[in-house]
Amino acid sequence: MSCVYFIPYNSDKSLLKRIVEVFKRAHFDKIFQKDDIVAIKLHMGELDNTAFVRPIYVRKVYDFLRELGAKPFLTDTTTLYRGSRGTAVDYLYTAMWNGFDFAPIIIADGLGGASGLEIEVNGRHYKKVKIAEAIANVEKMVVISHFKGHEVTGFGGAIKNLGMGCSIKEGKLSMHSNAIPVIKEKYCTGCRKCLLVCPVDAIHMDGKLAVIDEDKCIGCGECIGFCPFNAIKVLWNASFTSLMEKMVEHAIASVKGKQVVYINLLMDISPECDCYPKSRGAIVPDIGILISDDPVSIDQASFDLVRESPGDYRFFEGDVRNKDKFALIHTGIRPEIQLEYAEKLGMGERKYVLKKVGRD
Ligand code: SF4
Ligand code: SF4
Repeated sequence: MSCVYFIPYNSDKSLLKRIVEVFKRAHFDKIFQKDDIVAIKLHMGELDNTAFVRPIYVRKVYDFLRELGAKPFLTDTTTLYRGSRGTAVDYLYTAMWNGFDFAPIIIADGLGGASGLEIEVNGRHYKKVKIAEAIANVEKMVVISHFKGHEVTGFGGAIKNLGMGCSIKEGKLSMHSNAIPVIKEKYCTGCRKCLLVCPVDAIHMDGKLAVIDEDKCIGCGECIGFCPFNAIKVLWNASFTSLMEKMVEHAIASVKGKQVVYINLLMDISPECDCYPKSRGAIVPDIGILISDDPVSIDQASFDLVRESPGDYRFFEGDVRNKDKFALIHTGIRPEIQLEYAEKLGMGERKYVLKKVGRD
């Protein structure tokens, strides 16, 4: 059974000090040696979102790794949709604005989200998947995840941070959609920018309108982030089950052969993911921080702690203690699919021992 360390939010000591304490107690500090290049994988928040991982926790981990002599950097990948993180440049502006200006940042999938390395998974959906290059190339990682609700996976934690967050655009498109992108004719201005970025010349102009040739398109998704008028859309039509299973297969590939420590922050647990450019209240009171070397155990423990919590009156009626709050908010989704499939593929264990650190 895997061990998950639990630092309650209402702790007798600073949570920041407790993080370092757990690293030492669990001997995770021994993983990170002098001159090791370490990827700190996190979601640095969409512009105008306010629930994403607070920089102060990331800074503490970054500083501690530096004290150990390692060379950490912050990393994430570009988004499939064209928001404030659609290209590496957009993402860097957003990351700085959101407070991540204390460490080197590498957007792992390159300028347009196409830079990845193939890794074998032999799963139900893929034999191989492409993982963002800067992540595929490191041997050690700390994965810091904001645990919160998610509109298509029920919740998002470590597995989602890896599976969706370490894939290149092509992988994200294939997880989210069963079809290639389409042009929204009313928004297309005929600027031709998408023609320049398409790696296989799958786009041509028909008068002033861009047209995607379905036979040529390889579904890389690059054109989506580069269209200045948001005129290329994804058909978000994948089933929840297939999306979660595909996400798990990407997650497994992203950590294959690596030594990884996972930190889940159970605070500001918003109903939706950090990709929304807005603020939402928390569905439960802040719970604390979990740390483990097992991504399945840490997500299962996070899920259980949210289920055991009382719900916030703004989201729930009556007593919802011991009820799956994510399923209540995102009806029709069964969030455990990702945990079950990850365990089935040997990514980790759903059974865990929770070790509380410090006093409430
Ligand atoms: S980049 Fe966008 S607006 Fe420009 S031609 Fe392509 S689809 Fe149309
Ligand atoms: S048209 Fe297809 S192949 Fe070309 S950039 Fe867009 S998704 Fe990639």
